[in-house]
Amino acid sequence: MNLPQHLTIRDDHLWIGEHDTIDLARTWGTPLYVTDQDRIAASYTAWRDALSAEYSRVRILYAAKANGNLAVLRILAGLGAGADVFSSGELHLALSAGMQPGTLLFNGSSKSRSDLALAVEKGVPVSVDSLDELRQLDTAAAAAGKIARIAFRVNPAVDVPTHPKIATGLATSKFGIAHHLIPSAYQEALACSHVEPVGIHCHIGSQILAVEPFARACEVMMRIVGEIARMGVRLEFVDLGGGLGIPYHRGEGETSPTPSDYARAVVPLFRDGIREAGISPELWIEPGRSLVADSSILLTGVNSIKPAHRNFVNVDAGFNLLIRPAMYDSWHEIIAANKAGKAGTTMYTIAGPICETGDILAHDRMLPELSAGDLIAVLDTGAYGFAMSSQYNSRPRCPEVLLNGSEAALMRRGEDVGDLTRTMEIPPWQESGD
Ligand SMILES: *Cc1c(COP(=O)(O)O)cnc(C)c1O
Repeated sequence: MNLPQHLTIRDDHLWIGEHDTIDLARTWGTPLYVTDQDRIAASYTAWRDALSAEYSRVRILYAAKANGNLAVLRILAGLGAGADVFSSGELHLALSAGMQPGTLLFNGSSKSRSDLALAVEKGVPVSVDSLDELRQLDTAAAAAGKIARIAFRVNPAVDVPTHPKIATGLATSKFGIAHHLIPSAYQEALACSHVEPVGIHCHIGSQILAVEPFARACEVMMRIVGEIARMGVRLEFVDLGGGLGIPYHRGEGETSPTPSDYARAVVPLFRDGIREAGISPELWIEPGRSLVADSSILLTGVNSIKPAHRNFVNVDAGFNLLIRPAMYDSWHEIIAANKAGKAGTTMYTIAGPICETGDILAHDRMLPELSAGDLIAVLDTGAYGFAMSSQYNSRPRCPEVLLNGSEAALMRRGEDVGDLTRTMEIPPWQESGD
């Protein structure tokens, strides 16, 4: 199996960093998200070095939606990352983590007036998704007596080989403004009194396992960059978005393009484009998944085994904690963490505890013979894992533990039943008057 460096198998046990997963499960209970800080740092450094080797003025904006835990944001802030934020909540988290407002980009296809007012107040650049939004932002900035710095989100209409639910740069997607309408959008922005166009932005989709779509999108972007530079737009940044995939199918030896592959395929096109345009903006990239996905595993305990039309392994984590398999038909590698050195002998389907037929974490996996009390590790759960969790079926969310070398500490406590009702109110007419 093509395991990332921080995952090892020692004496039949799966280890993450310097920690035996069996000890982690014993200490913190299951289900449990475990994240390796060093792995996030290594991934960030790989991105930074790969991009810097091709161009000196680069900035990495971590896509905060992938994993919005404050501790994760703080790791990346400490390394110099900014963030792509998609909501006021993510904006607050990124600022709380110590990121500078000018290193964030407020994205989103449906921002509210209060979102726009917040971006203006905090001085966070906005990726504008429609002309309606542009006009509202101009009004909001005028009301605050400020100038809003903006980019437009370009829909470059490139086809990407990924799951349709995570392809965002198709001509038919809800995101961005069609590329042929972009120059006139900048024309209108230049005429606004309280908006200053300083950037241009695209993001073509997620879990893309080839570099060609990024190169095609970059070419589309650089054609527009040339055109709007001639119109007098002074570009400070060109943001090419995120979307590089990771090799979820580790058992089959799948690989993915590295940040270096990406940089070598894309950045020269960027350099050609800016040279022709006679400008030297920063290059911004917004990786989410490729920075954090493989840093986390989800540990889940086996409650029972049920031989039926499938051999079900009933575990204590379901789509309440990891919705990707149910939502995107995603594949996550499964390891029997306490029997990790044993060969697979039996075909199992890993089923969660949620009252839904679709609550299956993995179908038909060859694993060693399992029984109640065994520990299952679901790999590559650091992106869009806990971030998409819910309390469905009134299940308190599990804790998240962060590892730093030999240290381990909570980065989020587990919820308890009190957390289920914490935000609920009893309507006055239901108060008992005894
Ligand atoms: C989700 C998102 C990203 C990150 O995508 P990944 O596939 O996780 O790298 C970057 N930019 C924008 C605008 C996004 O919506």
